[in-house]
Amino acid sequence: MRDDDPTGLWARDCQALWHPYTRASTIAAGPLPIIVRGEGVYLYDIAGRRYFDAISSWWACALGHGRPEVVEAIRRQAGQLQHSILGNLTHPPAIELAARLAALCGGNRKVLFASDGSSAVEAALKIAVQYQANTGNPRKHRLVSLEQAYHGDTIGAMSVGYLEHFHAPYKALLTPVLRAESPCCGTCAHGLVPPACGHRCFDSMRAIIEGHADELAAVIVEPLCQAAAGMRIYDPGYLRLLAETCRRHDVLLIVDEIAMGFGRTGTMFAFEQAGIDPDILCVGKGLSAGYLPISATVVKDAIATTFRDEPDDHTLYHGHTFTGNPIAAAAALAVLDIYAHDRIPDLAAAHGRELAAGIARVRGHPAVRNVRTLGMIAAVELKPAAGRPARIRDFMRDNGILVRPLGDVIYFMPPLVTPDDVTRSAVDILATALSVVA
Ligand code: PMP
Repeated sequence: MRDDDPTGLWARDCQALWHPYTRASTIAAGPLPIIVRGEGVYLYDIAGRRYFDAISSWWACALGHGRPEVVEAIRRQAGQLQHSILGNLTHPPAIELAARLAALCGGNRKVLFASDGSSAVEAALKIAVQYQANTGNPRKHRLVSLEQAYHGDTIGAMSVGYLEHFHAPYKALLTPVLRAESPCCGTCAHGLVPPACGHRCFDSMRAIIEGHADELAAVIVEPLCQAAAGMRIYDPGYLRLLAETCRRHDVLLIVDEIAMGFGRTGTMFAFEQAGIDPDILCVGKGLSAGYLPISATVVKDAIATTFRDEPDDHTLYHGHTFTGNPIAAAAALAVLDIYAHDRIPDLAAAHGRELAAGIARVRGHPAVRNVRTLGMIAAVELKPAAGRPARIRDFMRDNGILVRPLGDVIYFMPPLVTPDDVTRSAVDILATALSVVA
């Protein structure tokens, strides 16, 4: 047993646990912090050290940890009905959550539940392709996505969200999709600034949709920010152009709100900022504020009603074991109550303004290439230098702040309820990290 592993837990972890997105060398250099408790915006490890959860535990824990209302809803539902399938049966938490989610997304929609974001994306892609076939257009089965998109790690989601660094070993398995230029206003490839830019970054998407309309089922995008690509934030005007072009060519628009939904951008959903009406929405993460795994694909009625079984069978033969799990749905309902009561998107917008004002101070640092913000997201793109992001991550962890750089991008995506003084001191520590280890 190592001196720094008095409980022996780390040794057992190394024997049995496979950590996602974690390099073997990181494990070898361990131990990793063993997190045993969460409270508010903080996580606590087994040695009693406190960490600010500056990435909301993979962007999910929008309300922080240990909210008594959510914990109580979970406890109550677990004692009543812990699981029952939604195939040919139904239950109140799923009914209630579907109704509230459909209304939040604009109404006249049907909600298909799943357990994680990738599964919600898979369902969206299948529904889009089947819808085109249901309505007599089986040739319209191809998909369009953005370069540098990320939509999850299952095969279909990787096909549309391919990131070379993560997904190269699986390339042979992926279905071919058409890819349009990735927009990012902070590092614009054309050296332009919206709105004067005329959204030149949209030209490639327009050309693809116009050139392939008769074979396209859908376009899928992360709205306003390609998160996993390094918080590539873009202008709502792009989404408006995309929605118009899709509508004109009978191509469905799938908006993947898994990372941006539930207030992250300062509005309930990012698509609202563009004033568009997407055909299909994918939500996850923040739907239960990270309390339990639940996600959903939210589909306009006009699409859903084509899945009839008479005269021909167009049933959606798709679903997962834990679809609409009652405990997870009860957690999500408690979360939505908090969102309504505490006006969480407005709160996020207000905290986000403070975060943006604070992070601006690192803009002129010689190691910094670009600083960009959106709602409760603040990203600092560094000039490339080997080992620099990892050194900053370790410095910040040693100072009680958990971050996970994406390539050269260090970012904060904290719980939406994080007090301003907490984000301010996290920015101070980032500024110190930049001068000490960058
Ligand atoms: N879409 C987006 C935009 C995401 O950011 C993620 C996860 N980071 C996913 C899909 C996949 O979600 P999950 O990890 O829950 O499968």
